[in-house]
Amino acid sequence: MTLSKDFPTIHAPGSGRSNSKLALADSGHSRFASLGQQPLGQEPQPIRLPGTNCMIKPQVPLTSLTSFKVGGPAEMYVAPRRIEDLQASFDWAKTRGLPITLLGAGSNLLISDRGIPGLVVCTRYLRYSHFDPETGRVTAAAGEPIARLAWQAAEHGLSGLEWAVGIPGTLGGAVVMNAGAHSACTADILVDTHTLAIDGTLEVWYPDQLDYTYRSSNLQAHTSVAAAEAIRLVTQATLQLQPGGDPGLLMAATTEHLDRRRTTQPYHLPSCGSVFRNPASHKAGWLIEQTGLKGHSIGGAQIAQRHANFILNCGGATANDIFQLIHHIQQRVEQSWSLCLEPEVKMIGEFHLA
Ligand SMILES: Cc1cc2nc3c(=O)[nH]c(=O)nc-3n(C[C@H](O)[C@H](O)[C@H](O)COP(=O)(O)OP(=O)(O)OC[C@H]3O[C@@H](n4cnc5c(N)ncnc54)[C@H](O)[C@@H]3O)c2cc1C
Repeated sequence: MTLSKDFPTIHAPGSGRSNSKLALADSGHSRFASLGQQPLGQEPQPIRLPGTNCMIKPQVPLTSLTSFKVGGPAEMYVAPRRIEDLQASFDWAKTRGLPITLLGAGSNLLISDRGIPGLVVCTRYLRYSHFDPETGRVTAAAGEPIARLAWQAAEHGLSGLEWAVGIPGTLGGAVVMNAGAHSACTADILVDTHTLAIDGTLEVWYPDQLDYTYRSSNLQAHTSVAAAEAIRLVTQATLQLQPGGDPGLLMAATTEHLDRRRTTQPYHLPSCGSVFRNPASHKAGWLIEQTGLKGHSIGGAQIAQRHANFILNCGGATANDIFQLIHHIQQRVEQSWSLCLEPEVKMIGEFHLA
């Protein structure tokens, strides 16, 4: 099986640990469930970060924090609202030598049923936004939903973000994933982005420094790491939109984008959107459909009838069901087309091939 660099640790049956490409899951795993552990008979207790109102919580279920609605708990979890709280969270993890994983809106993540070791830092409560109707610049915190920014931009008469209305992620996630739709993407409109490193360094990055390609950036290597030194959390971004538009027309165009997506894509059940990146030659959905896989299911996970690049959680799916289905699609498409589909979804933690 060909593995992308984003692939998680895989345990094949009867084998030892077979893939160390995403060592982060293993590196913290030996400690998993140890940090939040209390003496027998006591529930694990949240920990208040010194000097903040921010709580670090043990064993937090991540099912409701991802769009797939599957996966195990975070060993430790924090959802800071301010940069100071982020910094304190990083210090806390660094002192304990914990791996760190960043979580936005969880709309492009498949989290293992065994959960995530170390500290999961959720960015969705980092919120502020500023729209400049004169220059067309929008500066917003990483946790702002990109769809909300799209609606607000239209209200301010700013065009160029209408395509983002159907994307259920945060601005930070969009910068990292180079989210896009309808031939537009985040890299096209990004002016700059700020990141926070474990030592408190705030850095400004420009698009030409981020190796942007289709649904990819070099920031992706710094989002789920065993060595905390490598973490780079997007705290805010500035986008350049076109000023002077008619808010009424822009709202109508934004609505049209959303309607079009709702009719062509299955929004009614949990998913991560498109599972695979489109190869250069064909759309991944078309390849999967031509392979005859539409409707194929494993456990509670099913390849959508409406759009074959979507896997749906039809109820009761496990992360491993979805993982098996991803692997099955890859195998079948490779047999039929000699093409290896590369997952766009980020898989975190340990997975087992049946
Ligand atoms: C129904 C549906 C439709 C979708 N349609 C599209 C589409 O049209 N186009 C598209 O591009 N995507 C689409 N997606 C996928 C997804 O919404 C995007 O990739 C989105 O940008 C992910 O943002 P997020 O905040 O949910 O990131 P997450 O899924 O939480 O994280 C994605 C990656 O970014 C990292 N990350 C998140 N926030 C930060 C941060 N602040 N700093 C550093 N790293 C961070 C995470 O560690 C992870 O590696 C769709 C998903 C769904 C469920």
